Amino acid sequence: MSQCRNCRDNKLEMILDLGAQPPSNSFLSPEDIDRGETRYPLELLYCPSCQLLQLSYSLDPAEIFTNYVYVSSTSPVHCSHLAEMARYLYNFMNPQKEDLAIDIGSNDGALLKGYEGCEVRILGIEPSSVAEIARKRGIPVHKAFFSERTARDVVEQNGLAKIISAANVFAHVSDHDDFLKGIQALLRDDGIFVIEVPHALDMLDKRLFDTIYHEHIFYFSVHALEDILERRGFRIFRIEKFEMSPSGPPIRVFVCKRNGAFREEDSVRHQKEEELRKGLTDIAVYKKFAERVWNVKAELLNVLEDLKGKGEKILGYGAPAKGNTLLNTFGIGRHWLDVILEKNDLKFGLLTPGTHIPIVDEDTFDVSGYHYALLLSWNLVDEFLKKSPFIKKGGKFIVPLPEPKIVPGED
Ligand SMILES: [Zn+2]
Repeated sequence: MSQCRNCRDNKLEMILDLGAQPPSNSFLSPEDIDRGETRYPLELLYCPSCQLLQLSYSLDPAEIFTNYVYVSSTSPVHCSHLAEMARYLYNFMNPQKEDLAIDIGSNDGALLKGYEGCEVRILGIEPSSVAEIARKRGIPVHKAFFSERTARDVVEQNGLAKIISAANVFAHVSDHDDFLKGIQALLRDDGIFVIEVPHALDMLDKRLFDTIYHEHIFYFSVHALEDILERRGFRIFRIEKFEMSPSGPPIRVFVCKRNGAFREEDSVRHQKEEELRKGLTDIAVYKKFAERVWNVKAELLNVLEDLKGKGEKILGYGAPAKGNTLLNTFGIGRHWLDVILEKNDLKFGLLTPGTHIPIVDEDTFDVSGYHYALLLSWNLVDEFLKKSPFIKKGGKFIVPLPEPKIVPGED
């Protein structure tokens, strides 16, 4: 990849080279180890002409999504965030009951569930087998990758959509031309397209480098997003900012067709001003971010070494995809972590890609003898501090980012 995927400029700059890594969601079974794993370069590049952060290498989506194991509803906090998003969109658009609300990348139906009790037709579009979970919950799903072709099929069967949402999807889309042609075809002229993506501003501010993995081809600033959308006949008219999502604090970006009736609100200008203040159009800021990532590595390995030196055994806690970027980038394998506790039963009995740490059931694993756990789902630290059986038994979490610390602290 030598050309920007958005503006086709060929002067991309290397920001962060995380080495060759297996895909972050490619958990493997113990029998698969001998077959070996394929590693792909994980390099973050920056386009100085349109400000878009992107990976040098993107995987074939079929490879990622055929055996997809991420299920939204395993995080209650994330799940209610998505359901609230649906209700918010419903109230904002006030649709008629024959109107159509579509969620792209609908996963297990966590967002569409939020329209329950609302008078509007709903439809999910989802390529992975997780679609079946949504169907079992009574949510209609068109099982396909979203593309212009898919959009035309959906229009033929269901008509045009008044609301299209896509939460944590846009960063996975390698071909914005085709995807946005699909949105043009599927969206009514008076409709809205609402995307939620992690904000590059926070990735830089809070050193969230673990959100970098092959599935996420892009890391968006508002500047970059606006460039992508405007080139393809859309415009942004509102932006809202939230605290947390699985991949860092998201921005919710409200988009309409270029000639849509929505007036641009101040929030758009405010977000862009904030990005300028923080230097997001200056490559030096990105280089600085990379430097800070390597500092975190040194600090975290110190913490682990210190504990090991005192004879402590260490657990991992939570096995999200991003945990694998952290483990593989920092070289944290079975030498450091005995097992990883997890509550998504699709992952029990599997090993982490690259580092081969066994994943076990949080509810049944005997934690006696363990006092410390590296929290890989560290963005949910509050939820884990409240609910985890490990903490109730007096355990402590090592939170790796934005800077390594141990919680709860010593009394
Ligand atoms: Zn570009």
